[in-house]
Amino acid sequence: TRADLDALPNYVPGRSPADLARELGLPQAIKLASNEVPYGPLPGVVEAVAEAAAGVHRYPDMGVVALRQALAERYGVDLDRVATGCGSVALAEHLVRATCLPGDELVYSWRSFEAYPIIAATSGATSVQVPNDAGHGHDLAAMAAAVTDRTRMILVCNPNNPTGTAVRRAELDRFLDAVPDDVLVVIDEAYREFVTDPEVPDGLSYADRPNVAVLRTLSKAWGLAGLRIGFLVAQPAVAAAVRKVVTPFSTSMAAQAGALAALAQADEVHRRCALVVAERERVSQALGKLVPDVPASQANFLWLPLRDQAVEFGKVCESRGVIVRPFAGDGVRVTIGTPAENDAFLAAAEAALG
Ligand code: PMP
Repeated sequence: TRADLDALPNYVPGRSPADLARELGLPQAIKLASNEVPYGPLPGVVEAVAEAAAGVHRYPDMGVVALRQALAERYGVDLDRVATGCGSVALAEHLVRATCLPGDELVYSWRSFEAYPIIAATSGATSVQVPNDAGHGHDLAAMAAAVTDRTRMILVCNPNNPTGTAVRRAELDRFLDAVPDDVLVVIDEAYREFVTDPEVPDGLSYADRPNVAVLRTLSKAWGLAGLRIGFLVAQPAVAAAVRKVVTPFSTSMAAQAGALAALAQADEVHRRCALVVAERERVSQALGKLVPDVPASQANFLWLPLRDQAVEFGKVCESRGVIVRPFAGDGVRVTIGTPAENDAFLAAAEAALG
């Protein structure tokens, strides 16, 4: 295999709560490590997936037409501008493959979603990482300034994973005006449904620009992480290129059926997101007493810039049955769970830092 892969970090999934519970001799552990929403599948999803199961000896619809139609309708775009994939992480990879030849540059800020450097390296693109600003958010001016004639794509994660920060309309307008038209700007909006700041723009409001693509996922607010389904809205030529490089049939029959059922539950999704947001604000306030520089979050998680204490903090939380996501030497990301889960986390944080 390729020698350069040895130097690449693995994508780290959240630890299994069942394993931790067994290790600690607890009835259950709490997982606040993967930015999932804690309320279980949406009504009707399990039934729709079970019904689809009767047909699994056949391939799914490779064109994903019914689901793409439902997405196109919901988001007010034409069908030929929508592509689906095995999670939005796969779509990000397809976009890099559709835009970058070996040696071409992919610009993104750092720290951001940990999959980006892995996708760049495995696709042969060159990562250009632009440091976040002092408030842990994207430095869009520096990102625009990092564009060279080798740059083919820029990823803007908004809100940003793992820091929760979000760029606002005026900054994004300025940035998009500064980026050349032949560079594809991908706005990764995995956490869009949790945004409450009216100044944080909906990426889809930019999707008519020739060089903007928007990535969304059904893994977070829509509760379908285990089905692996994300989607993309872009110009028809970009969506068509993505459909060309996608692994055939990678939007499974269960994913298509489950996603259609979930999309019929938008009101329930809004209700759940409002609960998460209320808890985000409560936990953020409570944490402020322990960690003074937690950035305001527009997502369903908070970032604790604990630097050298990050790993130790994660260990203390685990010893109390709460799984969070430490990034060594940098910070800890904690997902917002149910009120009881959040209370358990706050007690662990108090034990670690209080
Ligand atoms: N983008 C961002 C910013 C994310 O945080 C995640 C999930 N961690 C994804 C994309 C991918 O989500 P999925 O592949 O489940 O759609």
